[in-house]
Amino acid sequence: MRDPTSFLGEEYRELVRQDLDWKLRVLGGPSTPWCMVDGKKVLMFCSNNYLGLSNHPKLKSAALEAVKNYGAGSGSVRPIAGNMDLHMELERRLAKFKGAEASLVYQTGYAANSGLIPQLAGKGDLVVSDELNHGSIIDGVRLSLAERRVYKHGDADDLSRVLDEAEGSSTAFRRILIITDGVFSMDGDIAPLDRVAALGAEHGAMVYVDDAHGEGVLGEGGRGIVSHFRLPRDRVHVEMGTFSKAFGVVGGHISGSQDLVNFAYNKSRTWLLSGSHPPAVAAACLAAVDVLESEPEHVRRLWENTQYFKKAMVDLGFDIGKSETPITPVMVGESAKAKQLSSRLFEAGVFALPIVYPMVAQGRARIRTIMNAALTKEDLDFAIGAFETAGKELRVVPRAAS
Ligand code: PMP
Repeated sequence: MRDPTSFLGEEYRELVRQDLDWKLRVLGGPSTPWCMVDGKKVLMFCSNNYLGLSNHPKLKSAALEAVKNYGAGSGSVRPIAGNMDLHMELERRLAKFKGAEASLVYQTGYAANSGLIPQLAGKGDLVVSDELNHGSIIDGVRLSLAERRVYKHGDADDLSRVLDEAEGSSTAFRRILIITDGVFSMDGDIAPLDRVAALGAEHGAMVYVDDAHGEGVLGEGGRGIVSHFRLPRDRVHVEMGTFSKAFGVVGGHISGSQDLVNFAYNKSRTWLLSGSHPPAVAAACLAAVDVLESEPEHVRRLWENTQYFKKAMVDLGFDIGKSETPITPVMVGESAKAKQLSSRLFEAGVFALPIVYPMVAQGRARIRTIMNAALTKEDLDFAIGAFETAGKELRVVPRAAS
């Protein structure tokens, strides 16, 4: 009889054969600018810990205190017996930080997107989604019974065309939901949220932005993309984000009206059916909001570092695509070359991962660098030097470029 699990090994070996399997690197200590990866001391150039908050003393001590006072776990899902005052306080503070009526915290950003989107749009509704939206949005839309249409990446004119077509079609949609990432994680470009929100208002559609890579980065004091475009709050109905990136911890969240939050926690299956954050997580997230409010220097340093790095890379002749944010892709082209460049960088002491097909289109492979506020100018010069040497050796930039 055939082994019913034989596909597991077969499919895994096929991934390995195509060199498409994830080769996990191991961090032997904290995610700091210089860290131990696979036993080697390297400069971290690809974490989402934009502001260095995952090792901020205030976050660490808040987590330790919470363990002492509340224990290691919350005991339940939030709607039953796992809703601590820490969770409630975090939501109050986050809403205040975002300038929103209310906020709701999920276990992860993935849980927010996959739990809320299918409730916002169902049978008879339409979801209109940017073609490069994050996988957690795509999964949320798949779980919904709504019809899905995709508009060209970052293209508000194409979004307008899709909305006009929807209005002109014979089946009238009950509701329309427009969803976009705020900052796109492969290219570091910013969604035209001002135009998206205006089109939403024009067509009576809900607007949902996933600001995972914009909060802590864009807008006043890192308040995110809605603040960046100075949009009135009622133009963007769901501002979704995560505590796992610039906030330095873990957890998803949404901000918007009190009606949105009441609806979301009563309906999102991920929120209702999955255990709540341990107290240490909620307390560290609270401390992160506090640090963003009281220490604006981290966001300032992030941007100084970003500008310094981008300028040096462009001066050396590297193509950094259309990045407008601390996510800076270093375009290489062929997947094999991007992998080679990443290995050379690692040998030289810089940890930056290659992003290759099928994560990006064929011929668009790159090294995705993510800037960090905690890096010093010396660190940046070290990384730039490593890129220069390896880039010239592999002819990613001309040897003569200076
Ligand atoms: N949205 C975007 C745009 C993301 O990049 C990510 C994380 N990769 C998520 C959502 C999911 O967030 P989390 O890690 O909190 O699940």
